[in-house]
Amino acid sequence: MMMDVIPFENTWPYEKQFDDIYLHECPFCGEEQVLTHMKPEVLEQAKEGIKTSLILPCCHGKITILEADEDYFWADEQLRK
Ligand SMILES: [Zn+2]
Repeated sequence: MMMDVIPFENTWPYEKQFDDIYLHECPFCGEEQVLTHMKPEVLEQAKEGIKTSLILPCCHGKITILEADEDYFWADEQLRK
């Protein structure tokens, strides 16, 4: 599994409410409660390990998501300080 080799520093939590996917906080600019443009079907694909890019509306920071689980995006770069 790819998840085994992605370090935890590369994870970022998300929240799904109905069809909306939120970040509690943007990893780049610190904006709170960021509503992403991610579609639920794209999240489902990410859970299957399909790589996807997410541009955040707050600062246009880009997360390259390699995989997702129920709580976290697993990115190709360190997101946690
Ligand atoms: Zn931001």
